[in-house]
Amino acid sequence: LTTRLPLVGTTVFTRMSSLAAQHGAVNLGQGFPDFDCDPALVDLVSDAMRAGHNQYPMMTGAAPLREAIAAKIASLYGHGYDAGTEITVTAGATQALTTAILCCVHPGDEVIVIEPAYDSYLPAIALAGGVPVLVSMQVGESGYSVPWDQLAAAVSSKTRLIIINTPHNPTGTILRPADIAALADIVRGTQILILSDEVYEHMVYDGVPHASLSRNAELAARSFIVSSFGKTYHVTGWKVGYVAAPAALTAEFRKVHQYNVFTVNTPMQHGIAGYMADPQPYLDLPAFYQRKRDLFRDGLAGSRFTLLPADGTYFQCVRYDAISQETEAQFAEWLTTEIKVAAIPVSAFYVQGKESGIVRFCFAKKDETLRLALERLRSI
Ligand code: PMP
Ligand code: GLN
Repeated sequence: LTTRLPLVGTTVFTRMSSLAAQHGAVNLGQGFPDFDCDPALVDLVSDAMRAGHNQYPMMTGAAPLREAIAAKIASLYGHGYDAGTEITVTAGATQALTTAILCCVHPGDEVIVIEPAYDSYLPAIALAGGVPVLVSMQVGESGYSVPWDQLAAAVSSKTRLIIINTPHNPTGTILRPADIAALADIVRGTQILILSDEVYEHMVYDGVPHASLSRNAELAARSFIVSSFGKTYHVTGWKVGYVAAPAALTAEFRKVHQYNVFTVNTPMQHGIAGYMADPQPYLDLPAFYQRKRDLFRDGLAGSRFTLLPADGTYFQCVRYDAISQETEAQFAEWLTTEIKVAAIPVSAFYVQGKESGIVRFCFAKKDETLRLALERLRSI
């Protein structure tokens, strides 16, 4: 069999989690919480099962969940999506991203991807027969930023889609109003669509609002906006997410979705819909994670690592040039096996494995886990 994905192996997250388990390391590599979700959410799911919500829901997602998602977006970002024709529930954000790419990218179409990039974008583009056009973020003393002039120069008559991600994995940067304005200038008057990965929408710190593309009517009209309950409700293993997009885009999305998964497990959808009736859990999330971010940053302040800004997500990137000149993969492996704290090399998020001397830690962990990791990281 000739592979359709020659560049793909086992993901860096799986590899680093296995290495961490093998060496008894504190796992700050793969992004997932080491604490449980609210028991009230589990009760709502089990109530839904007992109430008989155990057969296929609608192909588009259980109606109460689509309505709750539309209401949330309207109240937070002021955009009124129609729950019937513009919201689709997906098997996590990963399926939403892949399905969105498959439904709009034709063979030979160009897709602009900003690197470092989350690892699922490029394989999905490859399966669609698309051509990735890579634009690297700039990284300096003040952290990472998108070079919009370079992105504008990467646009051609073949550009079909631009993928953005805010808050951004792995860098923890967030797009600001000036970034959104630059993006709007680039696509205005073109047929280019946007895929906006907003899975960390509720993890934005220091009182800054999340720059959802749904806040901007001009951009929302050409965008697939993706989010995930795995991140928001500390249930990465449930794999429930969604895509919000104008009706014409949603219609194309659903053509692929219905033969990709058809639909997503019913009881989780009803449980989450019930839980969303109270906005407090997601409204509390920025403060919850900002405290963990600060605990982790304060702990690293006296170490030999240099902290990069962490404005959003549950990731903290650090430079390690005062400690080692090894490649990021070598350094992450050494940290895991010798210091017993796992991290992710940022080079894994670049097609050509660009080296910046930076690794990523995940701080979605119990305070005691973070303290144990900090003790080890400060010992270097
Ligand atoms: N996009 C980004 C940027 C992510 O970090 C993740 C989580 N790993 C996903 C998408 C996938 O989300 P899910 O687990 O809901 O499929
Ligand atoms: N999104 C998670 C991360 O960036 C991992 C998801 C996965 O393991 N595929 O760490």
